[in-house]
Amino acid sequence: MALISTDEDSECFIHLFNSINALFLQEFNEPCPINPIMADGAPAITNALNMVFPNSRRLMCWSNMIKKCRHHRNLVNKNDWLMIDKDIHALQLAFTDDIFDRGVFLLLRKWNQIPLIKQFVNYFTDQWVSNLCYWYEGAAFSKPSTNNGLESLSGIIKQKYTLRNKLHLSAFLPKVEVMLSDWSQASITTPFATVTDITSEMELHAYQCVMPTSTWLDLYKSSKWTSFDHYVAWKSSCWMVSPLSSCTYPVGLKQYRCKHSIGLAMMFNIYKVKDESRIIPLGKRRAPGRPKKFLS
Ligand SMILES: [Zn+2]
Repeated sequence: MALISTDEDSECFIHLFNSINALFLQEFNEPCPINPIMADGAPAITNALNMVFPNSRRLMCWSNMIKKCRHHRNLVNKNDWLMIDKDIHALQLAFTDDIFDRGVFLLLRKWNQIPLIKQFVNYFTDQWVSNLCYWYEGAAFSKPSTNNGLESLSGIIKQKYTLRNKLHLSAFLPKVEVMLSDWSQASITTPFATVTDITSEMELHAYQCVMPTSTWLDLYKSSKWTSFDHYVAWKSSCWMVSPLSSCTYPVGLKQYRCKHSIGLAMMFNIYKVKDESRIIPLGKRRAPGRPKKFLS
């Protein structure tokens, strides 16, 4: 099915969605259960979806969302922007609706303490919390969070079929026929993937990363690495940690003290956390460098 229109207003999308619905009804004798639906931020699509598929979750393409946020970076200073960008990326990894909702609450509480970024916070809340909030991974768990796949198909149409020319309808329709026939045949030889493959590279990586402790220790004792790469993979697959001392992680080796060894000592009750550390909220770190001195 192809929709041909001169513009991209609500009417056009309503027509498209109604046509999908009608075709589905004709073929399967029931309304189309299309849900969720991914699109960019176009209000015309949102309106049309609300009318034709009111019960479907309207996902917002994450790459478009962050692009739009970045267009508003001038509302804040450079350092604040770096923090905001990082925070948005962290929130995007929310894996359920509840985790996202709670994350938004905590994020806004954090941001609202910084008066300088108020304008951006208002934009963010209005646009990406109230208006289009389904841009996090858990909005449709394990489904695509961007429409990049479709955008690349649109690129293929221009590159392979229309050759970047604006075609007259009489020339375009035969092209559409060729495209649809090509893709239909391709879908027989290469069926639509519903799960991603486990690549051999991923398998190798997993095998080398997740080494049973006994295998790791056997190699430690026997020194029987099969190659230098095997030796490197072995060395970085486990850290030996000695409580209150250090560990074999690069930082631990270089600095003779590391968080793992102190953490382990805390767990074994051989090290007591100082009260000063207890009162610093989780995730807050002292700024790098020497602590600031008071100016007299
Ligand atoms: Zn360590």
